[in-house]
Amino acid sequence: MEFQFDSRSAFVVIDMLNDFIDERGALLLPGARRIIPRISGLLEAARRQEIPVAYLTDRHRPDDREFRYWPPHAVAGTWGAEVIDELKPLPGDYIIPKRRYSAFYGTDLDIYLRELGLNKIYFTGVFTNICIYFTAVDAVTRSYEAAIFKDGVASMSEETDRFIFRQLEEVIRAELL
Ligand code: ZN
Repeated sequence: MEFQFDSRSAFVVIDMLNDFIDERGALLLPGARRIIPRISGLLEAARRQEIPVAYLTDRHRPDDREFRYWPPHAVAGTWGAEVIDELKPLPGDYIIPKRRYSAFYGTDLDIYLRELGLNKIYFTGVFTNICIYFTAVDAVTRSYEAAIFKDGVASMSEETDRFIFRQLEEVIRAELL
């Protein structure tokens, strides 16, 4: 049965970019391709239910400070910074570039959510312990509700996922789906 989203919610896809997901990517997360079918199905459901869809995407300058501690990735204008073909955005979707782990920091995300009158965010994408985690914490800090699809996110290890799921549930009362 199709997943039913709460009203006044947004469905977000974080960093499903060539550099993280494609085997030729600069910062490949091995195994992350397994979450593509789940995200694809949820995208269809969200669109059918007229739930706003937002892609929160890493987009860096070639000399971004972040490259002091990560290999260069998702450089603006490059193939690596594009969403993978399987999950391409459609016209009307929100594309929100970000430079930091939290997609709220220095971006239009909060403005859009408030303009649309939304109070809940459903999360999918990568990495569970980095951009998903920091953005979900920031969402709850700003009084939004956060829900995470456990089979729609990925990190470097199942152990990391388990730890982060427990943190999300115990510390910020996120809904785990
Ligand atoms: Zn980055």
